[in-house]
Amino acid sequence: MKITSRSELYRKLPSVDEVMRQAEVSSLIAQDGHVAVADAVRVVLGRLRDEITNGDLDAAAVELAAGGIPQAVQRQVRQALTYSLRSVINATGVILHTNLGRAPLGSGAIDHVREAATTYSNLEFDIQRGERGKRDVHVDRLFKNLLASEEGTVAKLDVSTVVVNNNAAAVLVALNTLADGGEVIVSRGELVEIGGSFRIPDVMSKSGGILREVGTTNRTRTADYERAITDRTRLLLRVHRSNFQITGFTEQPSLGELVDLGRRRNIPVLEDLGSGAFFDLRLLGIAGEPGVLDSLRAGVDVITYSGDKLLGGPQAGIVSGRPELVARIRSNPLFRALRVDKLTYAALEATLLAYVKRDYDSIPALRMMILTREQIRERAQSLAADVGSGDLVVEVIDGESVIGGGAAPSSILPTSLIAITSKQFSADELATRLRTSDPPVIARVEDGRVLLDLRTVYPEQDHNVATILRSVCSS
Ligand SMILES: *Cc1c(COP(=O)(O)O)cnc(C)c1O
Repeated sequence: MKITSRSELYRKLPSVDEVMRQAEVSSLIAQDGHVAVADAVRVVLGRLRDEITNGDLDAAAVELAAGGIPQAVQRQVRQALTYSLRSVINATGVILHTNLGRAPLGSGAIDHVREAATTYSNLEFDIQRGERGKRDVHVDRLFKNLLASEEGTVAKLDVSTVVVNNNAAAVLVALNTLADGGEVIVSRGELVEIGGSFRIPDVMSKSGGILREVGTTNRTRTADYERAITDRTRLLLRVHRSNFQITGFTEQPSLGELVDLGRRRNIPVLEDLGSGAFFDLRLLGIAGEPGVLDSLRAGVDVITYSGDKLLGGPQAGIVSGRPELVARIRSNPLFRALRVDKLTYAALEATLLAYVKRDYDSIPALRMMILTREQIRERAQSLAADVGSGDLVVEVIDGESVIGGGAAPSSILPTSLIAITSKQFSADELATRLRTSDPPVIARVEDGRVLLDLRTVYPEQDHNVATILRSVCSS
């Protein structure tokens, strides 16, 4: 057998120009442009050259591969030019799934974003006076409306609100403004880490505040805070235990007790709510999830919360509280560095307007929370019937959805699940096939079954899910 030298093998590969002149490649150029296709050709030829260098290809293999170059170029162009950020079908039942983009926006919010994004706007322009304005005004009036009173009970609260990039930024700028160089008293039971490496002690040290831990993991009393107060104390900090619970032998001062202490000693109370709810979750049978109004009514001086958790809007960090404290936060240079763009203001304004109108159905995360088990069961049954039997064993069973996104871990909602097993594949294999379909379907695997929760699937996607389920088993 004749051994072909490496240099002879390299010569069997066509040049970039030769590939570009091939008929299939010319039509790609017409569609995607010369530059993108030439880039793809160089990648494909480079890969083949590497394989020759590594001794992976003999003469026959090189000839075969050379024949497949146009197809390889086509695949490479598609891969390079498709978006990395894609839409997926969330069948996990976790409504605010941090890995899947947390709160999806409603179409009203998107219309407003499109308008603000594609034309000039009065972002920082006062139309009445014809002078420079402030971007805060667009949402501050809506926050004032939502935070001033509630359904009959006229509890007038004088509250200002500003918006930054996310809640981590809100905590950082609030601590930096109100506590830089001074001490901040926090319970040891609240030194939390929130997904994605947000750790209270680390944010504290970046803010310039000095962490003063009090109490124990499970029990902290008002007296513990009080004993720790010195003339260096700037803040009392309360942090919502978003992603875990402490149960059993526990104690924690109520917000009211903490606020009383702060008032007596003239020290503001800052509360990191994490997930700020404007919707009363008690209506869904969920207790113990503090709402934005509950905290302000209790007298907390400043609260911080996310825009894309229970609020159901865009990613943002929101700081609401006593006007003079919020004004100080607003004039911190860090605030300028952490401010949000017009797209966020537009999405937030539309989301807040929906709250003002009590139009909860137009906020997808709320709409999903409000769905009842019966409504979901009906869809699950018709989807199961749509899939048919075939290779799959499909059952509809009772289960639980999770709110997620740092709402209390106990915040679960009764749901109806589609439980699937396959005669051919394990549950993990089936879940992988669903995940790698187009669009990807993200499911849960539990006890050897794939579970689909339609609470987080848009009704118009149900049919799509059925089609994908049928096709993953036939391929
Ligand atoms: C989620 C959360 C954060 C971080 O909020 P992001 O908007 O993700 O930056 C901070 N604190 C608490 C208590 C949270 O739940």
